Amino acid sequence: MGFDLHADLAARQAEGLYRKVRISGSAQGPLMQVDGEALLTFCSNDYLGLANHPKVVAAFQAAAAQYGVGSGAAHLVNGHSTLHQQLEEELAAFTGREAALLFSTGYMANTGTIQALLGKDDAVFEDKWNHASLLDAGLHSGARFQRYLHADVVNLASRLERTDARRKLVVTDGVFSMDGDTAPLTDLATCARQHNAWLMVDDAHGLGVLGKTGAGCLEEAGLGQNDVQILMGTLGKGFGTAGAFVAGSRELIDYLTNFARPYIYTTAMPAALAGATLASLSVVKSEPERRHHLNLLIAHFRSAMTSLGFQLMDSSTPIQPVLVGDANAALAMSQRLQQAGILVPAIRPPTVPAGTARLRVTLSASHSLEQVNRLLDVFADIAGAPSWR
Ligand SMILES: *Cc1c(COP(=O)(O)O)cnc(C)c1O
Repeated sequence: MGFDLHADLAARQAEGLYRKVRISGSAQGPLMQVDGEALLTFCSNDYLGLANHPKVVAAFQAAAAQYGVGSGAAHLVNGHSTLHQQLEEELAAFTGREAALLFSTGYMANTGTIQALLGKDDAVFEDKWNHASLLDAGLHSGARFQRYLHADVVNLASRLERTDARRKLVVTDGVFSMDGDTAPLTDLATCARQHNAWLMVDDAHGLGVLGKTGAGCLEEAGLGQNDVQILMGTLGKGFGTAGAFVAGSRELIDYLTNFARPYIYTTAMPAALAGATLASLSVVKSEPERRHHLNLLIAHFRSAMTSLGFQLMDSSTPIQPVLVGDANAALAMSQRLQQAGILVPAIRPPTVPAGTARLRVTLSASHSLEQVNRLLDVFADIAGAPSWR
């Protein structure tokens, strides 16, 4: 009798897929205490090194001193402070959209937006490798749900041609979180327009990192709000804080304010978090050297790993997976790195397709060249190469 949770957990364990948390005893950064061990980490999404930036920390503290910690209520009651308002306005301007709306997490922004826009007469078309929050949002929206082949605009077009749905929404990650590749955004926008569909782009991994000013993959592709009607960005990655936003036309934001349940029925993020994010945004804008340094590290890592004979993926972003193939081999490689004092997680099926287990290396502007070289030294050792230098 009962739920027999034990059997499910034991099965997970038998498959080598059981998960448990690591406990970190320090702030985000290249050097961290993880489970009591001092490690050089290459797994954070803090791509610009802002999660523990002194200006961001100071802004958080100053805003907490003024506004307290809890926001006390939902945005539509009295939890929406002048800092929330200012952040929404600055994010809209930064991304070149008319308006923006804050959500407490990216997961909620995605589910809130897709579920508010679509119902049973509608259809949603998602890239096969979209983030789980986008897939969950589409599945639970009640709309007809289809996954098109990864980054395949021809496959998408043939699906769009065959639908008679009322509203058609195409949804894609800007940068795919497990491969680090960028969606074919210009072609997706053209295809969506031709089929009278809207396009939604989740730029969790591009915001702050891609584009001339760091405004993300849509800035890099030169796509405005008429090309991509819905832009979702998260604040917990390149921006180094927490939360998310959706940006688009004033009408879209007005609609979501009225219909997005995960916006309406939740406590507003703390005002201090909005204050800290305003400081991150200011650093993103005023310190382009962070992006330059990060791009230098990416190029250096790719060239050294390729000369060592490792197989990388088609990625020019800070997400630089090293393809291993076999799940146990990936795990063994991750363990060998950890013995050398370096934390790089192994990503295994079902998170990625069978036979494509990998080490997911992520680089950050807070890494020094010397730290990346330490990582490369261990990879050289694994490859049995005398040296990569
Ligand atoms: C991390 C992530 C999310 C979720 O954002 P949170 O703010 O962490 O909930 C959504 N989409 C993508 C592509 C992500 O990588």
